[in-house]
Amino acid sequence: MHVGDVQVGGDAPVIVQTMTNTDTADARATIEQIARLGDAGAEIVRIAVPDRRAAAAVPEIVAKTPVPLIADIHFDHRLALTAIEGGIHGLRLNPGNIRDADKVREVVKAAKERGISIRIGVNEGSLPPIAALADGELPPAKQRRMVDAGLWEIGILEEMGFEDIKISLKAFDVPTMVAAYREMAGRVPYPLHLGVTEAGTPGAGTVRSAVGIGLLLAEGIGDTIRVSLAADPEEELPVCWDILKSLNIRMRGPTIVACPTCGRIEVDLIPLAKKVEETFKSIGKPITVAVMGCVVNGPGESRDADIGLAAGKGRGAIFRKGEVVRTVSESEFMSALLQEGAKVIEERYGETIDVSAFDGGEAASAPDDPLIALTPAEASETLPGRAARRG
Ligand code: SF4
Repeated sequence: MHVGDVQVGGDAPVIVQTMTNTDTADARATIEQIARLGDAGAEIVRIAVPDRRAAAAVPEIVAKTPVPLIADIHFDHRLALTAIEGGIHGLRLNPGNIRDADKVREVVKAAKERGISIRIGVNEGSLPPIAALADGELPPAKQRRMVDAGLWEIGILEEMGFEDIKISLKAFDVPTMVAAYREMAGRVPYPLHLGVTEAGTPGAGTVRSAVGIGLLLAEGIGDTIRVSLAADPEEELPVCWDILKSLNIRMRGPTIVACPTCGRIEVDLIPLAKKVEETFKSIGKPITVAVMGCVVNGPGESRDADIGLAAGKGRGAIFRKGEVVRTVSESEFMSALLQEGAKVIEERYGETIDVSAFDGGEAASAPDDPLIALTPAEASETLPGRAARRG
């Protein structure tokens, strides 16, 4: 299926989504936020359409969006019809609160005519009521109710020959969400949009989302993802990408390998690692950079990195794929990493990076240090030894 020009499911990559939190009726603010979200890595953006004012803004927003848009519809199917008229690329319908099959059919008919896809968005917080239970009968488990709610609406769409379907089964409770998605994945052939709903503030919510989404992606389940944080939606996107990068599913921007520091550390590594991350983020190319606090484990732990620094007291060794290519003084750590990073980027992407633009000119003017070839064994002997003698 497609949302606008973005393919979802089949052999398409896992797609990153988020949702605006502007008042959709304020078309200008919404368009500006969508543009920022697109720059931060959103490939599809959902907008809330809670009332007629919001629905009326859809044409203007659609006309200026850089990414395909999904209208989020609850309760009132007429808002879906207006959004379709307004040129929206996809719909999210909640089967928990649009329970009249005829109204769903009306929306499906209009979506079919316009080639618009529909996400059946089940949420544990808005499930249909439980049918009357017989004496002694236990209510079904939450994941069972979620799957049933999704299947109810899938049935209506399938009856109408509509198959541009995507499904989500979001819950705050990770085991519930994982169980629901696993079951649905075994029962229908449609793409799945993964998310842990209301996951929380950025710290705990990031972990909760990564566990739930990551577990499923690792099993090959999931076609689009959204991390739902109580934060600016721009903050959700690096988390989505880090989940995908952690599983080697997709790459975007740099990957920073940084040692946690320990009693062997002889440099102020944490701010250095942050600076390296920010600098390579602003360059924006997929490259793996290791920032390690010593040469005991540094070369080994950074072997898979494209470039790395094993920092000792006052000096450090610069690595490429675990091989020392030069040693530099502490004041040149950043510029040396930039220079080596620029070489990797040129070789890999054919793109020339003006390193001086990222390091206040230091990188371009840094002296070319003599190359000191150290084997890992020599390195582990030599640099800490030097550092110890200096100390
Ligand atoms: S790289 Fe060195 S300083 Fe960093 S955690 Fe490992 S042993 Fe400690």
